[in-house]
Amino acid sequence: MPALYDYDSRPRGTLVDPFGRAITYLRVSVTDRCDFRCVYCMSENMAFLPKADLLSLEELDRLCGAFIARGVRKLRLTGGEPLVRRGIMTLVASLARHLSTGALDELTLTTNGSQLPKYAGELAGHGVRRINVSLDTLDPDKFRAVTRWGELDKVLAGIDAAQAAGLKVKINAVALKGINEDEFPALLEWAHGRGMELTLIEVMPLGDVGEGRLDQYLPLSIVRARLAERFTLEDIDYRSGGPARYVDVAETGGRLGFVRVTCMGTLYMCLGQEDAADLRSPLRASEGNDLLDAEIAEAISRKPKGHDFIIDRRHQRPALSRHMSVTGG
Ligand code: SF4
Repeated sequence: MPALYDYDSRPRGTLVDPFGRAITYLRVSVTDRCDFRCVYCMSENMAFLPKADLLSLEELDRLCGAFIARGVRKLRLTGGEPLVRRGIMTLVASLARHLSTGALDELTLTTNGSQLPKYAGELAGHGVRRINVSLDTLDPDKFRAVTRWGELDKVLAGIDAAQAAGLKVKINAVALKGINEDEFPALLEWAHGRGMELTLIEVMPLGDVGEGRLDQYLPLSIVRARLAERFTLEDIDYRSGGPARYVDVAETGGRLGFVRVTCMGTLYMCLGQEDAADLRSPLRASEGNDLLDAEIAEAISRKPKGHDFIIDRRHQRPALSRHMSVTGG
């Protein structure tokens, strides 16, 4: 498939942040929309960005190409739900050319899984090898309560489709007090039993998401202590490029990650969002990429200490999405 944008992505020198670290990992939000309305992420009546404010698929392709030319080796598509963006496979197909040339090591995405029955095969065909699926509970009623609009069966079918297509799946689950706190052993055994890593995420509610401040804060220290009563957790050094800490679980032979999402995590994200807003102007100001390259370099020079660079434009909303906040590979 031809590239959406015929950008010259020959190396232009590595981007280095103010802490002297090369920027090799880029997360790009391709839409603010989602087919779920998770209680900790969105209100039921979300107002989404007007289309003109969103980067077009061509612009996203060009933007990613510009970062790849400056040394980004791993690209993660996020949302909202990335797979509900119309034409998303055109973008994936176009970005896949950087895998073919060797300029990019990994193209991946974080998804709620609902569209995987439709897209898993195509994703694998384009060279995607691993995906993260957000799933908090295996109880259909709780799943519906947490996601409001989601159906567990579809997500489970999506995970089946992904594994059948040869994709490696990692499950991300938000620890929610009174909702899934009794389920972690079952979730762990289920995930590891299917050869999937599990990462548990501690969410600190930061803003109004339509139901007042959430009373669902569950510290991971408690989650871990409870799991340690049933399982043998062995700390390991493994790092995936994200903020997660990992343990091996002796009984299951699988890997379990813990991520703590703090206010700072959101701050990085917001700065990324502001930078993204800045990048739209140079993208649209000229056909060439000199302005864009200069703006990217400038944005990186302002980057706070974080492990990656995030392009997302949802900063008007104080919502905290697992898609935005979770990495851990
Ligand atoms: S947490 Fe993810 S799946 Fe849930 S509403 Fe937000 S973007 Fe959608």
